[in-house]
Amino acid sequence: MSFCFEPGPVPSVLILGSENRFPVHRIYCVGRNYAAHAREMGGNPDREPPFFFAKPADAIVEDGADIPYPPQTDNLHHEVELVVALGRQGADIPVEAALDHIFGYAVGNDLTRRDLQADAKNRGQPWDAAKGFDHSAPIAAIHRVADVGHPSAGQIRLTVNGEIRQEGDLRDLIWSVPEVVSQLSRLFTLMPGDLIFTGTPAGVGPVRPGDVMEGSIDGLGSLKNRIV
Ligand code: MN
Repeated sequence: MSFCFEPGPVPSVLILGSENRFPVHRIYCVGRNYAAHAREMGGNPDREPPFFFAKPADAIVEDGADIPYPPQTDNLHHEVELVVALGRQGADIPVEAALDHIFGYAVGNDLTRRDLQADAKNRGQPWDAAKGFDHSAPIAAIHRVADVGHPSAGQIRLTVNGEIRQEGDLRDLIWSVPEVVSQLSRLFTLMPGDLIFTGTPAGVGPVRPGDVMEGSIDGLGSLKNRIV
């Protein structure tokens, strides 16, 4: 087979302690999944079914890389999140079997053009431009389940220029990781290489050029990026 032009590189993420990289298939994201953040966004954190949106695979940004301030926004927000990396295909996965599909976990940052998101919500329009722009998915090295197990508790936080902005605990997820994987697999056939951003704790806020964001999760290291 030949192509009309050279296809781009496969987006991929570093795997801690491995020479191999994790090839990214799709990036899924969970909407509100911590009660305090749901409230700060004007929602009600009762257990409505989780809702999902997506980012393009090539929105990945590595730990340590600079991120250009995106166009068409005056309100770029950070959202530190636990990211689940899938290693097995599956559809209609029962909650009890969901953990078997997970390859590893990482710290991610669901960057958001909050002004475009608010506008889209008001107009009943899709979130793609608010969530799926270039460089909108910074993610740190993936920690393999073989090395770290399945973290279900532990601090998740984000600092901007060293000041704490977001702080929460993984045990406060409204929908647990197995529940998220199971629900998502009812909508889409999940594939090895899929990433799931599982939602952000309270404290989201704006960043400007020059700001350094550092997200961290107990046991999963940290993710540092400067806005330029
Ligand atoms: Mn998010």
